[in-house]
Amino acid sequence: MKVLFAVWELDPFFKMGGLGDVARSLPAALKSLGVDIRVITPYYKVEKMGRNKKEKVAVFSLVYGGKKQTVEVWTTQSPYTGVPAYFIKNKKYLDKANPVDTWGFFDKVIVEILKRKVLDWEPDILHLNDRHCGLIPLLIKNEKIPVKTVFTIHNLAYQGPSPVSVIKDMGIDPNLCKIVQWEIKSKKINFLLEGIIHSDKITVVSPTYAKEILTEEYGQGLNEILRGMEGKIEGILNGIDTGWRNTTHYKSVKYPYNSHEEIVGGKKFYNWKEGKKLNKKFLQKKLGLKVDNNLPLVCFIGRLDPKQKGLDIMHTMLRRNVEKQKFQFVMLGDGDKHWEERYNWLSTFFPKYVSCNFKFDEALAHQIYAGSDFILIPSLYEPCGLIQMIAMLFGTIPVAHKTGGLIDSIKENFTGFLFEKYNSESLEKALFKAFDVWKNDKKQFEEITNNALNSDFSWKRSAQEYFSLYKKLLDNN
Ligand code: ADP
Repeated sequence: MKVLFAVWELDPFFKMGGLGDVARSLPAALKSLGVDIRVITPYYKVEKMGRNKKEKVAVFSLVYGGKKQTVEVWTTQSPYTGVPAYFIKNKKYLDKANPVDTWGFFDKVIVEILKRKVLDWEPDILHLNDRHCGLIPLLIKNEKIPVKTVFTIHNLAYQGPSPVSVIKDMGIDPNLCKIVQWEIKSKKINFLLEGIIHSDKITVVSPTYAKEILTEEYGQGLNEILRGMEGKIEGILNGIDTGWRNTTHYKSVKYPYNSHEEIVGGKKFYNWKEGKKLNKKFLQKKLGLKVDNNLPLVCFIGRLDPKQKGLDIMHTMLRRNVEKQKFQFVMLGDGDKHWEERYNWLSTFFPKYVSCNFKFDEALAHQIYAGSDFILIPSLYEPCGLIQMIAMLFGTIPVAHKTGGLIDSIKENFTGFLFEKYNSESLEKALFKAFDVWKNDKKQFEEITNNALNSDFSWKRSAQEYFSLYKKLLDNN
């Protein structure tokens, strides 16, 4: 079984969020099931190629936007997983991740590669991810290329509404598709919708989110269309690469720890209680917070997206409570400037209790996972979410909104704390309940931490589900 996995970010070469993690780890898990899987992604200028040996495998030209463009295809292997990756290079469209033209060009190039058999390898299945790949299924249909398409929605909110000129630039004949004609009339091309309509199978990243997106509340305007194709949609929970995470854990965390003390690769791993205490002290010192093990330390790691990540209710809750100086809060994230300013205000007024770090910093992220007692995930919606899984791997307990993949991965009062209503009071109640257990019921808190540490979020089961889905698609040929 040969699968080409198309994606716009690929860790460790280029990563903006959870999609980059998935692009690294899911193909690796499928490879271990015997799938011949390769990843294809743009070759941005910022790709971190490091010492990886790369090789140019093809050069060809095509017409895009009415002009001839030269494309180079490079290949290398993931340094962590050995999965081969193809990088598409073009100065005008793929040097920088510029929406619309980058997507349109990327989609067109992938289909040309398959049509012209540019690679010495032809996939049976094209696994596409998010809006960036949205027009590939339509092009595949138009060109009648014998490959099945699986389209994974990682976040329905990002649909990529784009100027209709992209259709002409890509050389798509609107007469071949009614939806495109309809979109041209409404003056926007919705990349995600195109992907949903024209692919053979749709997956979303958790079973709960698969149900939620059929409702008006979570459907982002596409619920009716999605309801019409319910049988085509499957929810498969994302996983994390526990082996790889442990490697990073080992490298950037000052005092590595596990559920119990052990020696790994000649290095001491503390038991979690001791390790967490040491890492907490290290983090408090590093970030200029008051060094005090008796203050619960709560973190937030993620994109500062005010529409999704619960920044409003978290800010209100912190403003109301942090002054009472009962806990510390560490934020790591970047994005919305307005919210950066508002959170910055909290750290300016309460420097010993609040530390806000507006940057993308993987080493600091791991130090925060390791040094915090709790992680806050107040997202309004969360298709899957990886931070709660990574946090649990570090024995850091999630306090999260009862939604999407958070429901599928956090067991209430067993591995974390959940709140139902999306408001600052509910969040506060859940957090204070968590603090109460942490302070007053050490035995139960130890149990919860052990449960979290022993949770299995590896890709094993989910990769098997993707494998069965691929197989079914091919068997139905
Ligand atoms: P999303 O996909 O919505 O961005 P996820 O929870 O699925 O959120 O994944 C986020 C991933 O990005 C995690 O691996 C997290 O550790 C990482 N991450 C997010 N923001 C930062 C940051 N500022 N610095 C380092 N890593 C980050």
